[in-house]
Amino acid sequence: MDKTKNKTAIVVGGGIAGASICYALSKQNIKTFLLESETSPAKHASGNPIGVVYPFLTKHKTAESEFSYLAYLYFLKLWESLELRNFVPHANGIHFLLDSDSAYDRYSHSLTSHQIPKSVAELGKEPYSFTDVLYFPSGKALSPIALTNELIRLANPVTYYTNKLLSWERDKTNEFVHCHTENLNITANYLFLTQGFQFANDPNLQWIPMKQVRGQIVQIPASIFQNQTSILYGDYLTAEIAGERVLGASYDEFHLEKEPREKETIDLWEGLQKKMPNLRENWDHVSVSSFGTRVSYRTQTQDRHPVVGKLPNVSLLDTSIKYQNLFRKNAKTFQIPYYESVGILNGLGSRGLTHALFAAEILVNQVLNQPTQMPNQKTEIPESIIRSLKPDRFLLRMWKRDQLT
Ligand SMILES: Cc1cc2nc3c(=O)[nH]c(=O)nc-3n(C[C@H](O)[C@H](O)[C@H](O)COP(=O)(O)OP(=O)(O)OC[C@H]3O[C@@H](n4cnc5c(N)ncnc54)[C@H](O)[C@@H]3O)c2cc1C
Repeated sequence: MDKTKNKTAIVVGGGIAGASICYALSKQNIKTFLLESETSPAKHASGNPIGVVYPFLTKHKTAESEFSYLAYLYFLKLWESLELRNFVPHANGIHFLLDSDSAYDRYSHSLTSHQIPKSVAELGKEPYSFTDVLYFPSGKALSPIALTNELIRLANPVTYYTNKLLSWERDKTNEFVHCHTENLNITANYLFLTQGFQFANDPNLQWIPMKQVRGQIVQIPASIFQNQTSILYGDYLTAEIAGERVLGASYDEFHLEKEPREKETIDLWEGLQKKMPNLRENWDHVSVSSFGTRVSYRTQTQDRHPVVGKLPNVSLLDTSIKYQNLFRKNAKTFQIPYYESVGILNGLGSRGLTHALFAAEILVNQVLNQPTQMPNQKTEIPESIIRSLKPDRFLLRMWKRDQLT
């Protein structure tokens, strides 16, 4: 029997995470309701005019780098199969500068340790700086807003914009979740939470150690530079999309004001000039302070790895029991209690565009108790990757340190 037949889901948040979940649910034929507090999707972190898509790699394989690489392959697979090139403004090609011995060592080794074929990434030279690079021919600069909107269009959920989730609870049978906004009460079998940096408004998520990190980008008229591909060097300068390029991004976890800072724009500009002096003949007389800027907020976990999994029900834990004692007495029987039909996808940090689609696929399969397949094969993805993403990792760590009160 088809276990998902006639099931329904509510997705909270219309950024790239929520859109990716809507898409994963549509593949399972689950009727989906999308709740978004703004008037339209992608108004917050997913609302920059241009973002870059490429994987996070480490010298040796780690759960984090393996997840990121698989997520990148999954992204490229969907990019092709959904023909996203026809709907999402983009420019192919990313040059990732390896301008120190340690960077060269790390990334050249990552190619072998992750068995990355040349068609995906190879060593080369960046044409303006002649610096060593890792080149991702299918890496992309793209419009995150267009990508988010296109995924929502493909998934075709029932959308409720200007509907901020205020609270949710499960009913006594545990079969349904009820959600409440100012205008709406809505019930479904599953609930997926992707509120981005506003996660802490939800009392069920407050224990998860994530923080809001401010980022500022500069919107530069395309004609100021001639680079055909995006250049990454800690910061990034994208290729042209719709007449502009983006120079980004600053990072501040302490001061979170919404207004752009002129100094940050100038710092980003000067940083680019220092790294890539040959990108322009004359850097003077460019009125960089007059360029557009945008401030938005990443949501970042303690270990900079996303949070993807069933949501633990912390209220059912007896945290007066010492974690160490619990494991000594009860090692074989202890199970984390979950809200079984509730999943979370958050903490996407600076790589939400690369990671969201694969993370959503993993999450939906987990909440539906199904296996997730590797992007290019018929095998399941390793348990170590799924475990590394679960919110449980923080719960156990915090319990161990008596921080769960
Ligand atoms: C400056 C900057 C530059 C970046 N550049 C890149 C890049 O080049 N490449 C890359 O991969 N990533 C980049 N990122 C990261 C990427 O933008 C994020 O990881 C990604 O957009 C996060 O998506 P999200 O859906 O989790 O969050 P968001 O896009 O913030 O979406 C959360 C949504 O939830 C809604 N919401 C919140 N609370 C409620 C509620 N109670 N009820 C209903 N709706 C609610 C919000 O309105 C919002 O629409 C960048 C981030 C920043 C800040």
